[in-house]
Amino acid sequence: MRRMAAWSVLAVALVLSAPALAEPNRPILDKAQGFVPEALKLWERLVNIDSGTGDEEGLKAIAAILLEELKRSGATVETIPVTRPSVGDNIVATLNGTGKGKVLLMAHMDTVFAKGAAAARPFRIKDGRAYGPGVSDDKSGIIAAVYVLRILNELKFKDYERVTLLLNSNEETGSRGSRQLIERLAKEHDVTLNLEAGRPGDGLVIWRKGSAQLTVEVKGRSAHAGVAPEDGRNAALELAHQVLQISKLGNPEKQTTVNVTVLRAGDRTNVIPDAANARLDVRALVAEEFDRVEREAAASARNKLITDTEVITSLLRSFPAMPQNPRIDMLASMAQRIYGEIGRTLKLEGSGGAADSSLAAGVFKPTLDGLGLVGGNAHTEREYAEVDSMVPRIYLLTRLVMELGRGQQDAR
Ligand SMILES: [Zn+2]
Repeated sequence: MRRMAAWSVLAVALVLSAPALAEPNRPILDKAQGFVPEALKLWERLVNIDSGTGDEEGLKAIAAILLEELKRSGATVETIPVTRPSVGDNIVATLNGTGKGKVLLMAHMDTVFAKGAAAARPFRIKDGRAYGPGVSDDKSGIIAAVYVLRILNELKFKDYERVTLLLNSNEETGSRGSRQLIERLAKEHDVTLNLEAGRPGDGLVIWRKGSAQLTVEVKGRSAHAGVAPEDGRNAALELAHQVLQISKLGNPEKQTTVNVTVLRAGDRTNVIPDAANARLDVRALVAEEFDRVEREAAASARNKLITDTEVITSLLRSFPAMPQNPRIDMLASMAQRIYGEIGRTLKLEGSGGAADSSLAAGVFKPTLDGLGLVGGNAHTEREYAEVDSMVPRIYLLTRLVMELGRGQQDAR
């Protein structure tokens, strides 16, 4: 009795102090909690199978497991071959409902890790964090997606026109084999929710920079470095001159970055090299910045150190930017409100890294990212995911899908 009374007083105090505090949706929260033991087992199975991009055997094994899991949510599940030379099938799971909203969820099955990584560092949990190759990026996103669909199915929630889940097999090398599929699906849905890892500190990603690769090719003339170096036209030296100029094309105010990352020239010390090339990583928030860098790099190429070398620059755009806009802001505040129902606060962040959400944003659809479990140190052996973020993140995503499915948003 005393306990009850104390609890009631606390509840009244909470209501009085925070009248706007919404109640959690109990059935969803209970389902999410109930699925934890099963989800941990599935997560362990997925992490313990190597599925580096290009590892056809590993990706097939992962896909086989997920095909079965997704069928348990009543979804229509199909495998869609990727565009070669990418390997591994994509998976598309579809739930058709009776409502009006169309929501696309995306996660990816491939990792950056080579075969053998899972055997060397199998799934383990220590101090509340799960470790293993791809544990966060993006196998935690897959786990969230699988159980969101299960919860929708078990609660018999049908108030959406369509909820689609795309599991991509080749995200980590730029989704070349899935790009058309992603763009088509994003266009067919009102909103895209990407399940890359949630940011450390419980953040979502609401903008991303676009990415491109700038290549500089130099042709010179070879010569014996000891006997007649003056006969040579040193491509390495010219390349050094070029990359020093071009690396200055970033613009801190516009957050455009240009970084020299790959240099190649010569293979013998006694030969003046006749060829050299560099690749630079370019990131920008707006498309015009890529145009500017392309133009100014070409202009720099005309300013040569060694006049009779030949310098050619080219910019290959890979991912469009996902700029912050009012529709994304609206989705983000919806997510924050929902997270508030379980007493949690969502941070909103941007990222210099591109992802599949960038492709959805590229076809002008409102997109949120970072909806997987909270994690960090992606692409390193220190990669981790917060186990305690599983229930809150599954709750958040389920509620988001429900509200968007009902069409409770002006973001369309
Ligand atoms: Zn990822």
